[in-house]
Amino acid sequence: MNSNLNLNVRGLRPSSTLAINERSDELRQQGRRVFKLGLGQSPFPVPLPVVESLRANAFQKEYQAVRGLHELRGAVAEYQRGLHQIPCTAEDVLVGPGSKELMFLVQLVYYGDLIIPTPSWVSYAPQAQIIGRRVTWIPTLPESGWRLDADDLDRFCQADPSRPRILILNYPNNPTGLTYSAQELEAIAAVAVRYHIVLISDEIYGELHHTGGHVSIARYCPERTIISTGLSKWCGAGGWRLGTFTFPRSMRWLLDSMAVVASETFTSTSAPIQYAAVRAFQGGIEIEHYLVRARRILQALGQYCANRLEAAGVSVCKPQGGFYLFPDFSPHAAMLRGRQIHTSEQLCERVLNETGVAMLPGSDFGRPAEEFTVRIAYVDFNGGHCLTAADAVPSDQPLDDAFLERHCGNVTMAVNLIGDWVAGG
Ligand code: GLU
Repeated sequence: MNSNLNLNVRGLRPSSTLAINERSDELRQQGRRVFKLGLGQSPFPVPLPVVESLRANAFQKEYQAVRGLHELRGAVAEYQRGLHQIPCTAEDVLVGPGSKELMFLVQLVYYGDLIIPTPSWVSYAPQAQIIGRRVTWIPTLPESGWRLDADDLDRFCQADPSRPRILILNYPNNPTGLTYSAQELEAIAAVAVRYHIVLISDEIYGELHHTGGHVSIARYCPERTIISTGLSKWCGAGGWRLGTFTFPRSMRWLLDSMAVVASETFTSTSAPIQYAAVRAFQGGIEIEHYLVRARRILQALGQYCANRLEAAGVSVCKPQGGFYLFPDFSPHAAMLRGRQIHTSEQLCERVLNETGVAMLPGSDFGRPAEEFTVRIAYVDFNGGHCLTAADAVPSDQPLDDAFLERHCGNVTMAVNLIGDWVAGG
């Protein structure tokens, strides 16, 4: 390794979500059969009205305002007001090239430790490390759905009550697929208020709550919550790179500082994408219909995968939103050790080599290396075809196993292969 590297960057590897995607594609190019359950990418196409808006705005070529197109900021504010009844206006919104970039900016600008539950998405902690912030992982339990417990957070903050901190809470969650109840959010909000925590509510999967019941913690602590969202997940547009932060009025100073750094770094977000995003955040019947159909498929497929894994003796919580599962293979620990598998990384490597199923190790999400947890992204299917096929099944009827095996075949085959592999097949 080159010793001239910045100390904060030394030892870091490319983000595992992106690395597994590139590796899976390379293996496919070599002719290997690979089931891509590694990267968490929406399987569904971008809704048609949004694509049409992008097409109509392809000519937009000017640099945009650093904080984002005013029309888009207004559309995002209206969207958040409608969803969560929080008072916000266009002036409270910051647009960036992906919420990931905004997460990085906020940590760069705000001098505070990062607090995240374990497990958490792969990039929060490395971003903090790159900037040189202290990271604290607060352990969670599978019995409690891997959710951050408000009392644990309180106990942690008590030790140094006035220390500046950022808490990132993500729900529906990546990697667990679970979300929080209103009471749990209320309890965490009370702790955030007590210790003046900057609370970043990562709601990128909010619209993919499987029954459409997403509730924002901003309802319980509007004055401390920044709501993060974007087009990547619910709108199927990860590659478009557009994210938004909505701030409380009392945190305008933070938005202003992030805008300064944005002006010195990415300048502004792609103009055509911003125009198209206006259409996405305006919503309406067509987009709502798209979401209802996407949720129906994700819910059925998530339950299918969890059931199959459970039947194979793997512990897993039933997902409530998004497109992830976080199974724990520990009930098979003796068998795994017998096969010379001692870490979640080795587990993923062996499953990939022996079955072609790509997934990510729990250690990438902050879990102990020797714990046999993994993340499965149940997204390897053609979402466009599947939406059309699901339309032929009356909405009061479930999408049954036969439907899923036919239209999400790579995913169903992958979990069945995992089951066979565990059984020693
Ligand atoms: N959020 C997605 C995932 O966890 C992919 C995007 C990314 O990590 O940058 O797989």
